[in-house]
This record gives sequence, C-alpha cells and structure tokens, in this order.
Amino acid sequence: LTGSNEHMSNAEKEFERALRPLSFNDFTGQEKVLENLKIFVIAASQRNEPLDHVLLHGPPGLGKTTLSHIIANELGSNIKVTSGPVLDKPSDLAGLLTNLEEHDVLFIDEIHRLNPIVEEYLYSAMEDFKIDIMIDSGPNARTVQIGLNPFTLIGATTRSGLLTAPLRARFGINSRLEYYDAKLLSTIIERSSKILGTPIHADAAFEIARRSRGTPRIANNLLRRTRDFAQVKGDGTIKLDIAEVALNALDVDKNGLDEMDNRILNTIIGKFNGGPVGLSTIATACSEEAETIEEVYEPFLIKEGYIKRTSRGREATPTAYDHLKIKPPTQQGS
Ligand code: ATP
Repeated sequence: LTGSNEHMSNAEKEFERALRPLSFNDFTGQEKVLENLKIFVIAASQRNEPLDHVLLHGPPGLGKTTLSHIIANELGSNIKVTSGPVLDKPSDLAGLLTNLEEHDVLFIDEIHRLNPIVEEYLYSAMEDFKIDIMIDSGPNARTVQIGLNPFTLIGATTRSGLLTAPLRARFGINSRLEYYDAKLLSTIIERSSKILGTPIHADAAFEIARRSRGTPRIANNLLRRTRDFAQVKGDGTIKLDIAEVALNALDVDKNGLDEMDNRILNTIIGKFNGGPVGLSTIATACSEEAETIEEVYEPFLIKEGYIKRTSRGREATPTAYDHLKIKPPTQQGS
C-alpha cells in the first residue's frame, strides 16, 4: 500500500505506457538528475562497461519507472522489471540474475521492501557479479558460485530512509526526484494531449497542472478524466471551463488538494486542535494506512506548507487554517 501503481487497473496501466517518454530528450523536468544520468550513461557506454547501480527515490508517480526504462533504452540494453515484495526467496532473484545479458538493466521497484535474505543475496551480485547458489539438499548440499553478466541494478523507492546501510552503499548513483512545478506539468499535459489526439487550451492545461499535486501520474489521470468531460459535455476540446467542471467533479479543490489531503487537514485541525498529533492517530482517524499517509500525502502537504513535522507529531500551519477557512486558535498570552 504505497499509493503507487500496484492498485491500477489494466486500462490505467495501458494508458500510462502509451504516455511514457522513451528517451532523455522526451522526459520533462528533473533537470539536474537528468543531466548527471546522461553523462554517466555516455561514459559507461564509451568504456563499454555496465552503468553503475542507480538508486532512484522520491514520492510515487514522479517518473522512477519511466526513467529506468529510458536509461535502458539509452544504454541500448534490455530491462527486466520486478519489485521488492515479489522476490520472495533467493531463488526468485537468482532466476532473474542468471538470465541477464551483458549490460542489461534489472529494475527493482519498492526496493525497501526486499526480504532481508534476498537482499543479502543481492550484495555479491551487485558488487562482484557473482552469486552463491545452493544445490542438492541433505548431506549432499553444497553451494556453488556462479558468475553473472555485468549488469546495472536500478532500485526505486519512496522511502530511501528505510534502506539498509549495506544496500545503500552499493549504489554508485543516487538520485532524488522532486515534485514538478505547474509549468513543467503543463508541458507534460500538452504532450500527453497530443499523443491522445485531444486538443487542449493552454489555460486549461495549466489549470489541470496546477491542481495535480506536482505529480505527472496525477496530471495524466486528471487529463484522461477531463477528456471524458470535454467529449460528453463539450465539443471534445479541453477548455478552461470544462477543466474546472471536471476537476470539481473529481473533488480536486482549487489548490489541488484531493479528498484525502483535506481529510487529513480537517482531522488535525478539527479533531486535534491543530496538533501536534502522531501519524498513527491521524491514520486511524482518516481510515488510511499510516504508511500511505507518510509516503503519498504528507510530503506534498509539507512541501506546500500545510503541515509541519515536529518531534511531537504533525502540526497544522496557518496556511492549513486559511485553506479550510477556519480561524486559527489565538496564541496563549495574546
Ligand atoms: P511509482 O513509484 O508509483 O511506480 P514512478 O515514480 O515510477 O511511480 P512512473 O510510473 O514512471 O512513476 O510515471 C507515472 C506516469 O507519469 C507515467 O505515465 C509517465 O509517463 C508519466 N511521467 C512521469 N514522469 C514524466 C515526465 N518527466 N515527463 C512526462 N511524463 C512523465
């Protein structure tokens, strides 16, 4: 439960694939990360070496999977995709690793959720391109070491803080993806509209962008839903008024906060007098997993200045009171 792509329907996954940029040039934003990655990819290719292992971290939907595919494309390599929770036992990982060709990319999503036994296995694979596998059982049991083709591991995580130190140390490249500003998201929305063959006005694209929580996945999803409104209620072109109707119908408010964002703010302010209040208490009151609040909702609410994280818990800021049109409590002594 990370608010990531694991709950998406097949239609949504198909839609994402269609809109996924395929090269560095096609990818919008994350300029600094991109500039560095381009250099590392070119340097590795020139030396005919595998690219160093890459750790990508940041909130869901900012393009970690997309970037991994781009890196493989730019290296001219294949990519094998898996995720931490799927790799149950060392043999699952061994199967993948032994099938990699030279300079292939192995992408492990949610790498912070790897089983510790599998993780330990990964260490020698990453470091020496070797793994020990157990053959036979009982008195004949023995381990044999097998060599792997040199490969690049790309790990993606929403929670780099949960990575163990030995695993983190094995990544030569460590990049953090940031939320996108409305202008960049606008560019992404216009690109996606073109691919979908739906005309969109610039002010409508900007309005959707502004209300997409800094996240391309949300921007593309809102675009998809707005396109439905434009088709049924308008003439097919996405104009500002249609975009506003659609966004309101989807419960995305003027500042781009969705229903759960607002529920969190209402809880802290309405039930806990503005805080400080602990994460698990908020989660229970909002009927949401603490992990999802911490990974998906809170980073954006903090970045936009609605809540603060203090040692005693989460606190609502004056911006949050303002947003909910509630008068902040008067300070003691004033
Ligand atoms: P998660 O961790 O939840 O899997 P993610 O960070 O891997 O998310 P992606 O799946 O790569 O996110 O991206 C989500 C969607 O947003 C995709 O449809 C992708 O096309 C689009 N997208 C992401 N970043 C960009 C970008 N910079 N330019 C254009 N589209 C983007």
